[in-house]
Amino acid sequence: EAKAQGGGSIRFFNPIMHETISRRMLIESALRRAVQHQELEAYLQPQVNEHGEVIAAELLLRWTDPDLGTICPAEFIPIAEASGLIIPIGTWVIEQACRTLRDWQQIDALKHIPLAVNISPRQFRHGGFVAQVEHCLLEAHLPEGLLELEITEGMLIDNIDVTVKRMCKLGDLGVRFSLDDFGTGYASLAYLKKLPLYQLKIDQSFVRDMLTDANDEVITKTIIGLAENLNFSVIAEGVETVKQLEHLKALGCKKFQGYLFGKPAPIVEWQQRFIESSTLSVE
Ligand code: C2E
Ligand code: MG
Ligand code: MG
Ligand code: MG
Repeated sequence: EAKAQGGGSIRFFNPIMHETISRRMLIESALRRAVQHQELEAYLQPQVNEHGEVIAAELLLRWTDPDLGTICPAEFIPIAEASGLIIPIGTWVIEQACRTLRDWQQIDALKHIPLAVNISPRQFRHGGFVAQVEHCLLEAHLPEGLLELEITEGMLIDNIDVTVKRMCKLGDLGVRFSLDDFGTGYASLAYLKKLPLYQLKIDQSFVRDMLTDANDEVITKTIIGLAENLNFSVIAEGVETVKQLEHLKALGCKKFQGYLFGKPAPIVEWQQRFIESSTLSVE
């Protein structure tokens, strides 16, 4: 159609916009294919306590397309969300998590380790979500408290009552909730106490700049205090250095996640590393 209009016609897109849109479309169709062929991979990253012991893990998606190469979640998750592909992707992620937790029930060192998965707003709002999680939990025969869902503040802006109801239903099934990237979104403090939350995750942007930016330090400190007062657990994301760790500890934070303790790794590799390190630290 653009061709038929000839050279002198109005151009709706400048070249840069055009390029962005084409890449989005390329990614969307490649992602659709990857979902069909089950080519997404689940990686795990450890979460540790103040002694550096692994107390939980977070599942993070990885995707390498044969033509486009490795594409990071920050790029493909929003496209999955906009296109609706997040529904089959999210289903796969929850199934994968429950299957992993079920396998861990056979391994003493791993049977009490919870696994967190990220849930996008559209996935959470989808009508079949609660039933789907319930089905996966039942199928895997999991004890309560092992599946954790990480939601974001973006999920809370509309229809808070429906959200709370849904969270409570899932809570009854033994699911725990963390509020991811906390401090970057729109959650009002009034909402916060309404929610059946287990944990706040301090966004990595605050942790990253905490040592050089007094505002980020104050925000970090405030989140830790808030969690304490509202009886939520709190974990710092994106901990990369010992200095950051020491400072977070001094502020009263007791749980950490970040490259300092381990980068995300494929499930089997992660399990291997975990089992080796836990047998080493027994002495
Ligand atoms: P998130 O849930 O906040 O995950 C933390 C991100 O920080 C991950 O990026 C992780 O690899 C990265 N990270 C962990 N430690 C460090 C560190 O010490 N330094 C730095 N610079 N980064 C660190 P990743 O894996 O690229 O994922 C980005 C985002 O994509 C996630 O943020 C999450 O919002 C989304 N995502 C990933 N997997 C899924 C999924 O299965 N479903 C949904 N809905 N979203 C997902
Ligand atoms: Mg997360
Ligand atoms: Mg986060
Ligand atoms: Mg994030």
